[in-house]
Amino acid sequence: MPRRKPSKMTPRTGAIGHVCFLLLAALGACVLTSNPTAAATLPAAHVRGGDAGKELSTRIILLGTMGGPVVDSSRSEPAALLVVGGIPYLIDAGASVSQQVERAGFKLVDVRHIFITHHHIDHSAGLVSLMSFVWFQRAWNAISLPPVEIYGPPATQFLVGTALSYLSVSERIFRAGAPALALAAPMFQAHDIDHDGVVYRDANITVTAAENTHYTFSSGSPATGRDKSYSYRFDTPQGAVVFTGDTGPSEAVTRLARGAAVLVSEVCLCLRPPGDGVVPPLGDRRPRMPPKGLRAEEDFHSRHEHLTPEEVGVMAARANAKVVLLTHLAPGNLPTDLAQFTAGVQKHFGGTVIAGRDLLEYDIR
Ligand SMILES: [Zn+2]
Ligand SMILES: [Zn+2]
Repeated sequence: MPRRKPSKMTPRTGAIGHVCFLLLAALGACVLTSNPTAAATLPAAHVRGGDAGKELSTRIILLGTMGGPVVDSSRSEPAALLVVGGIPYLIDAGASVSQQVERAGFKLVDVRHIFITHHHIDHSAGLVSLMSFVWFQRAWNAISLPPVEIYGPPATQFLVGTALSYLSVSERIFRAGAPALALAAPMFQAHDIDHDGVVYRDANITVTAAENTHYTFSSGSPATGRDKSYSYRFDTPQGAVVFTGDTGPSEAVTRLARGAAVLVSEVCLCLRPPGDGVVPPLGDRRPRMPPKGLRAEEDFHSRHEHLTPEEVGVMAARANAKVVLLTHLAPGNLPTDLAQFTAGVQKHFGGTVIAGRDLLEYDIR
C-alpha cells in the first residue's frame, strides 16, 4: 500500500480547505480553493477576457478580509475580485492588493475595472502601488490595452491624479534609461460617482451604487466633493452579488441587496450598549457632537457606522438574499473561532453564512 505524502498545506490554507469541505457537503454548489495558485492553471482565455465573456461562470475571490486600517499577519486589507465569464472586476484595493491579485491567479494587467467603495485607507491604500505595477507591466511588455477604469466616490479622480504624481518620479527615472516606455497617465481613467443608481454596464455586468451609512458626518472640500461611501450591486448572468463595503444599518443597502445570490457583507463585533439602536438618518449631515476625545469618537464609529452580526442577519433576511459571505471582519485578527461572526447572522437569517478568509473562492453557479 503506497504511503501518503505528507501534506504541504499550511495551517491557514488547511482551515480554508476545512471550510471548503463543509460547504461542498452542504451546498454542492460552492467551489472553494485552498490552493491560491489553482486559478493560474486555467487556460489563458479564461482569465484574459476576449471571448471568455461567453463562459457562464461567476466567482467571488476574497483577496483581503481584515476589517479596519490595521496591518496584521493574519489577514490582508479589504479587496475582492468578482470574476464574471473569466473577466476580473476588482472591488476595493487594500494595502496588499497587488500581491493578492497574483496569488489568486491573475496578472495585474488582467484587472481593467476597479470599484472603490470609499476612501478609508484600508480600502484604498493599495491603489497607488497597483497602478504603479500595472503601468510597469504594460509599459515594459509593450502591452497596449484600453485604460483601467477606476470608479469610486467623489475624490476618486483626485486620488488617481495624486497617485500618478507619486508614480511620476519613478516613471521619469525608468524612462530616462528606456525612453520607449509608455507613459502612465493614459493608462488610467477615473470616475467620481456622485449619485445612486447604475454607474457601469458592459456585456457581463451591470453595476448599481447606493450610498450607505458608513459616513454619518459632513466632510470633504469644494476641491474633492463631499465624501460618500457606497455599496455596489453587480448583476451578472448567474445572479446578483452585492458588496456592502463599510456601512451601518441601511435601508438603501437592504433594497440594493434584494434577491441577491450572494451578499458580501462587512461585519464587526462592535459593542452596542443595550437599547442603543439609534442610527442617524442618512440625510442628517449636521456635524457630530464635539467628541470628548478619541475614545468617544471610536465608540460612535463602531456603534453607528458598521454592522454587528445580528444587523447583517436582519438585512440579509429582509433582502431575501441566498448566501451571506462575511468579510472585513473586525477585529479580524481573532483566532479561529469564526462562529463569533456567523452565529449572530444566523439568528435572523436562514440561508448559508460563510466567514471569509483571504483567497477564499465562492462560485455562485
Ligand atoms: Zn473598512
Ligand atoms: Zn471605512
